[in-house]
Amino acid sequence: MTAPVVPQGGPGGPPAPAGCEVRAALPPKGFGLFALASCNAYTELFSEEPLFALQHSGNRRVVLVKRVHLVAACARCCGFIHSIPLQLEVIFGEGRFASLLAELGDLPKQWQESAGGGQAFVARCTQGCGEMYCSEACRDAHFQQCHNLLCVGPLQAEDPLVRFKHHALEHADTLLLAAQVFAFLINRVKASGGGAEAMHRMMQELMCFCHAPFRDACRAPPGRAKDAEFYAHTDQLVNEAAALLKAALEPHAPAEVSALFQAGPAFFSEVLGLFEYNNIDLEVSSPVGNVLLQRVSGSVISTPHETNDSWCGLVLRTSVFHTVVSQ
Ligand SMILES: [Zn+2]
Ligand SMILES: [Zn+2]
Repeated sequence: MTAPVVPQGGPGGPPAPAGCEVRAALPPKGFGLFALASCNAYTELFSEEPLFALQHSGNRRVVLVKRVHLVAACARCCGFIHSIPLQLEVIFGEGRFASLLAELGDLPKQWQESAGGGQAFVARCTQGCGEMYCSEACRDAHFQQCHNLLCVGPLQAEDPLVRFKHHALEHADTLLLAAQVFAFLINRVKASGGGAEAMHRMMQELMCFCHAPFRDACRAPPGRAKDAEFYAHTDQLVNEAAALLKAALEPHAPAEVSALFQAGPAFFSEVLGLFEYNNIDLEVSSPVGNVLLQRVSGSVISTPHETNDSWCGLVLRTSVFHTVVSQ
């Protein structure tokens, strides 16, 4: 049995939104955001845009899964891609559904129009990596924020970035979120003149959030203790990912990347541990589920609970990470 991990935060965090305060919760929970007055459940206290967000890879890739949870979401804002034909292609993208899709013909396009959603729209990465966006504005913003350093469109299979992405998809998609953070930090530091010193300041700023090395912050799989084998496996996973990401980013920003990896994979591991404490997981019912149900039953079902357990209760799972370094 290992002792509970006490996450460490630091000064310099973002100011609390009006009506809220940041204070320490009971260990081992670290710092939290508390409402200053009691309020009803589901009261909206504040809203802000997440700086880093990721659709879980498990419901965006066309793979063999027991339940259908595949959804095309914007790579930046995680909003649904506004195209019923595209959503159906994603859901039924396997070869065995090809004839079904062919039989539908023009119907998805008509459903799009009859659902009142206007014309189908999808913006794709101009470098051909396959990333999709809800708008050109989201695509351009994502490119400037991090995708300029993380796009695999022009790369060969043996490129470290391609290998990093395969490694992440195989083991843990939060590795992709960490890559977003690293690319964002590099872009931000370079925009302000660049250099290792500026990067160290940014890294410090990020560490005001509760964090710990990934091996300490992560949970063991159900029914399993964190034994020596578990730690060895976790360390190897993180070390390999860090080495690949470093190799991928280094040619673009040698000074900044050397600062990020000055202590080997330690900072990368802390960022992953930070996610363990700060991530917010969202599940949103897909509007495509409603469209299909209307076609099947002629009725409209609108609550997430009702659709979640149905065959077309498509769910968007999104990891969202809020941080101060957003200006
Ligand atoms: Zn978007
Ligand atoms: Zn791309």
